[in-house]
Amino acid sequence: MAKDNSSPQAGIVVVSEADCQRLVGRKEAFDAVEAVFGAMARNDAYNFPVIREAIGHADALYGFKSGFDRAGLVLGLKSGGYWPGNMDKGLTNHQSTVFLFDPDTGQLKALVGGNYLTAIRTAASSSVSIAHLARKDARVLGMIGAGHQAQFQLRAAAEQRNFERVVAWNPHPDMLPKLAAVAEEIGLPFDAVSAEDVGAQADVIITITSAFEPLLMADWIKPGTHIACMGTDTKGKQEVDAALLARATVFTDELAQSVSIGEAQHAVSAGLISDADITPIGAVINGDHAGRNSEDEITLFDGTGVGLQDLAVADVAARAAASDGAPMVSL
Ligand code: NAD
Repeated sequence: MAKDNSSPQAGIVVVSEADCQRLVGRKEAFDAVEAVFGAMARNDAYNFPVIREAIGHADALYGFKSGFDRAGLVLGLKSGGYWPGNMDKGLTNHQSTVFLFDPDTGQLKALVGGNYLTAIRTAASSSVSIAHLARKDARVLGMIGAGHQAQFQLRAAAEQRNFERVVAWNPHPDMLPKLAAVAEEIGLPFDAVSAEDVGAQADVIITITSAFEPLLMADWIKPGTHIACMGTDTKGKQEVDAALLARATVFTDELAQSVSIGEAQHAVSAGLISDADITPIGAVINGDHAGRNSEDEITLFDGTGVGLQDLAVADVAARAAASDGAPMVSL
């Protein structure tokens, strides 16, 4: 029988959720997400169309996000979705797994738990936007949202500027103490304020809710603010006033998602802005766009969440696990 010598591959590495947490920190996630956003803007990396379906069982939404990063040689998909009954079984409602393939041979290279990685890659996204777009002298961090993801966004954002305090509002105020505890842990004073006061006081604002109507109005935002809108990842969701996008200079991870499922969907469909008004943040990362032009400019990042982010952090986890001596399995 002919020997299959198409690849020197040692086998498949399996990286558990616990190992992902041990192996991929905020710095690694930031670097991986920043690099892949840059590759996307150079057309070296692209996301394939997203599949998301109600499967008619367990009320679940299931799908795939996939893509190829030719610069980083990362090919694969994240498969998973949302199972609303999981909480009662002691499981997280969001469940996902990343599959990585060898782009030279198509062989499966790695199976990587995707739950923690989704949280850390999403936090890295707003964090990359703050690093590239927020004023250097930003001192007050505003949070709209206080769920699972908000805690990750807060920790990652706090590392990007010399913030002196956090102001936060959430539609469900009972969720705020958990976020306050995170702020306290990282040494930042925390004030629960009105949404209007988040706008009046914050230099950087992250929105990370499941809202379907605007929570933050355009005229509440002071000049010079940077806003990272992270919650809107589906048609119909909305966190900020569409007029805010017309007032701001708008950046995104991926234009196609921004105008269809991201925060910009509303401003675009209302005719307040067009595709041409939205810049991929990768262009700023690559030095092809200046980013912020003045101290008074409002910058807004529409972080819709792309499959390539998942693949980028999963690749970091798989490489780290392999060099850590993780056992390899064969199909
Ligand atoms: P979560 O369920 O833990 O928290 C939900 C948050 O939204 C809370 O702040 C809650 O008070 C608020 N909320 C719930 N229902 C609301 C409503 N009807 N109107 C306004 N606010 C409401 O969820 P999470 O894991 O923190 O995720 C928050 C959002 O971020 C979700 O919309 C999720 O789809 C999105 N998300 C985006 C990305 C991305 O890459 N952009 C990645 C992960 C999650």
